[in-house]
Amino acid sequence: MEAITRQQKKDIRLIGKFVEVYCAGKHRVAEHAPVDLPGELGTRTLCPDCAAFLHYAITRRLKCPLEVEKPTCKHCRTHCYAKPQLAQVKEIMAYSGRTLMLRGRLDYIWHYFF
Ligand SMILES: [Zn+2]
Repeated sequence: MEAITRQQKKDIRLIGKFVEVYCAGKHRVAEHAPVDLPGELGTRTLCPDCAAFLHYAITRRLKCPLEVEKPTCKHCRTHCYAKPQLAQVKEIMAYSGRTLMLRGRLDYIWHYFF
């Protein structure tokens, strides 16, 4: 596997956390399993649906053509997600953003917005 840049790691760490928070809050009854993140970013515990989504998100991120000039996925003008996944990521970000804010996890919020 090719090397992952610092920016990619940051984004993957972030999306992994957001999906995990969303899954823990929304899919409590589903069966969860650990999912490995690339680049030694650890594991996240997710249901199969969220694991599939996270895999998709990571794949898109690693293939991003705008590596150098890109500020963050949020501000990207080339939305690389397909329509269903784009709707899903918006829901995940909104839900987890709120949850993390309430928990005082401003470090994550900071990375998301800046
Ligand atoms: Zn889930």
